[in-house]
Amino acid sequence: MQPLKIFNVIPKLPEGLEELWKLAYNFRFTWCGHTDNVFKQIDQQLWATTSHNPLLFLQQVDPQRLKTVASDPFFQSQLKITVDTLKEYFEERPSPIIEEASPENPVVAYFSFEFGIASCMPIYSGGLGILAGDHLKSASDLNIPLVGVGLLYKHGYYHQYLTPDGWQQESYPDLDFNQIPILPMEDENGKQIQIAIPLGRRKLRAQIWKAQVGRITLLLMDTEMAENRPEHRAITASLYGGDKEMRLWQEILLGIGGMKVLEVCGYHPKVIHMNEGHSAFAGVERIRSYMQKGLSFESASEIVASSSIFTTHTPVPAGNDRFSPELMEKYFREYARDLGLAFKVFLSFGRENPFDDQEEFCMTVLALKLSRFNNGVSKLHKHVSRKMWKSLWPLYPHDDIPISALTNGIHAPTWTADDMREVYDRYLGTNWREDPDCKTIWSRAANISDAELWRTHERLRARLVDFARHRLRKQLQAYGARKQDIQNADEILNPQALTIGFARRFATYKRANLIMREKDRLLRLFKDVDRPIQFVFAGKAHPADSEGKKYIKEVVSTCRSLDYRFHMVFLEDYDIDIAKYMLGGCDIWLNTPRRPYEACGTSGMKAIFNGVLTFSTLDGWWDEAFIPDNSIGWAIGKGEEYSDPDYQDYVELRTLFNVLEFEIIPEFYDRGRGGLPRQWIHRMKKALTTLGPEFNSHRMVMDYVRKAYKPAYDNYNNLARYDFQPARELAEWRNDIMTKWGGIDLRNANIEIMDETFVGESIRISVDVKLNGIPCDSISTEAYFGQVQQNGEFASRNIRKLTPIGDTDPEGWQHFEGKVSPTKPGRFGYTIRIIPTNPLLIDPRSLGLIRWAVPQETS
Ligand SMILES: *Cc1c(COP(=O)(O)O)cnc(C)c1O
Repeated sequence: MQPLKIFNVIPKLPEGLEELWKLAYNFRFTWCGHTDNVFKQIDQQLWATTSHNPLLFLQQVDPQRLKTVASDPFFQSQLKITVDTLKEYFEERPSPIIEEASPENPVVAYFSFEFGIASCMPIYSGGLGILAGDHLKSASDLNIPLVGVGLLYKHGYYHQYLTPDGWQQESYPDLDFNQIPILPMEDENGKQIQIAIPLGRRKLRAQIWKAQVGRITLLLMDTEMAENRPEHRAITASLYGGDKEMRLWQEILLGIGGMKVLEVCGYHPKVIHMNEGHSAFAGVERIRSYMQKGLSFESASEIVASSSIFTTHTPVPAGNDRFSPELMEKYFREYARDLGLAFKVFLSFGRENPFDDQEEFCMTVLALKLSRFNNGVSKLHKHVSRKMWKSLWPLYPHDDIPISALTNGIHAPTWTADDMREVYDRYLGTNWREDPDCKTIWSRAANISDAELWRTHERLRARLVDFARHRLRKQLQAYGARKQDIQNADEILNPQALTIGFARRFATYKRANLIMREKDRLLRLFKDVDRPIQFVFAGKAHPADSEGKKYIKEVVSTCRSLDYRFHMVFLEDYDIDIAKYMLGGCDIWLNTPRRPYEACGTSGMKAIFNGVLTFSTLDGWWDEAFIPDNSIGWAIGKGEEYSDPDYQDYVELRTLFNVLEFEIIPEFYDRGRGGLPRQWIHRMKKALTTLGPEFNSHRMVMDYVRKAYKPAYDNYNNLARYDFQPARELAEWRNDIMTKWGGIDLRNANIEIMDETFVGESIRISVDVKLNGIPCDSISTEAYFGQVQQNGEFASRNIRKLTPIGDTDPEGWQHFEGKVSPTKPGRFGYTIRIIPTNPLLIDPRSLGLIRWAVPQETS
């Protein structure tokens, strides 16, 4: 029988405890130790079994217990401190770099397909989501006027469990939004705000929820509404579920719906940050909205691109969504008309080759074209991305492709284990939590007592071992293992042994099963009873990735076999909670990606803040963090790239085992006075002092603010002045340049040198340019000058602008001159290029126009 109506009964909190609601409805509990403690003090067990979900906790806690703590003066004082801290948190930080803004009036909207904020809101699958969560947390701490936009998936990302033979199974939780600390976003009449957008011929509705992450509001859309067709209700059913069309719907909802959400909620951000290409339709929708204010497509595009930021995350081609022209047509034919574009022209915004009618529409391409600040997520990834997308800027050399690097970071207070936080509070001062990007603070790590650091670390390792045993027992029970095996679970792992952790998505390029390719050698290490080592694994494979699942099966069956099972364990259902246990308690954080597929990787950064040392191939962040003297961790190889994967496995596996056996293990067991591994502890501290200030999300968010948000905000204001007049002018100018550019010509390119010249000597360069009616100040004529490699390519280059000399002659030729001087000895070369320039133009490369001198134009 169906109930007539379903409603929620909310527990009544005893007098004096009402403030608990306030604590529960702010995700700051994920990084504020006080709040965590308050819930722990009420009922530690329940806090754990509710997976640190404060709302579920308050719904389930025994009322009697609440009465007891309500009358406990100690608890009351703890609660007061916690509530006051939250209040102070909101007041404390002087406001942002961007004036006129506040959290209620955000300047930046941050779009992401996933957000990993707390394990009780499982709307993340891995690094991308965790990064987005950490971005919001740091933006909150730093008081950056930012609002988040995302989707609220009814079934979240899946729970993983394994069959007895280790094959991954997925089960989808049914999230009750009344049991997650989020609230409906309501209008002034108390009604939940909704949006409606066209989806093909239908109307798609979504209702809006609000998650409070410290100061930051995160707006989440949910389509499970009676008014929607059943298949549309499923749009927010699960993260990365469904087919291509479903993905397209989700991305339409995120981008186009997301812009609508901001509008109906009264937010008017001037800057849009697209975290990965999923949200790139936001750019198109913004263009449409400016066109409704009377701007042309071109002027609207100038505004939108100049104030958009796009972060690309994946060097794996399959990670970049592409949709067939037919599918696009179903949903964007009308839309293109609204934009005043032929459908084919619309499609060209998502194509590498605008003239290829077969090419699919790629979200990454769209994002790159609609944003003037594009970045990869590590220095290495910048180069990889430039190579990947160079076809969008065919006339530009690698160094000039407009994709920069802004390396990821992690939210230090979230990812530092409780016990370690306390050590830092004492030795570094509590402001490491607010200012983790400050070098001076981390330099104090040198003063931490070796014994205390080590004891804390060992306690965390013991806790991980306990946790692993407990989890393993539950896993074994769940699939009806033999009693003996379940009992054995209490004896796996050794709280004193060197513990190596590997936990991440089981994408095949990460090679989770690498060490299992050398079982003999592994067994030999396991047999050394004086210097025991052990491994803890965790990770999910994408539901459709059967190769990834095979890797899991291989790892799991090894872990379960007789010779290995006391030394190796696989923990099911990797999530934020498991990550915290592992990153607290391991000694070594192992990573084996095939370079260069790891765009950045962030779990190793979390490890640093817990004194866990990285051991990894030189890929992603580790390629820029690693110091070759091994003083902060170890590398596998020297950053080689291989064309034969089997050979690569062979070489890197040998290196891995050699470093492990001859460097890592001996040093871990090199115990001096007090049983302390001094050298090891020294590395822990050095990693903290060197990498701590760098690889945290405060540094990352501040980098975004300085390099991207603030300039984008200024760009917007600049172009939007006088009712968008500059934007209109810029669009006209662009049109003019585009039509005349082809007629530009060069002659008499000349450099005044002999075959040899001295360092520091200044050399005159000159050229004549036929302007073809383009005003002289609309172009920049530049000497492109630098050292040349054996193959004739530039190894480095300097750009020197040449100055127009005299008047343009009657035929339209203009003479340009300038000087360069080589600062180093070596083989040098020069060439000349012309690019368009305009003070309103953020980046001349966006026109795709460039004219290089060719040999016959020299004199
Ligand atoms: C940090 C984290 C990740 C990302 O780790 P990588 O090293 O980037 O692979 C994935 N999942 C969870 C639960 C995490 O905490």
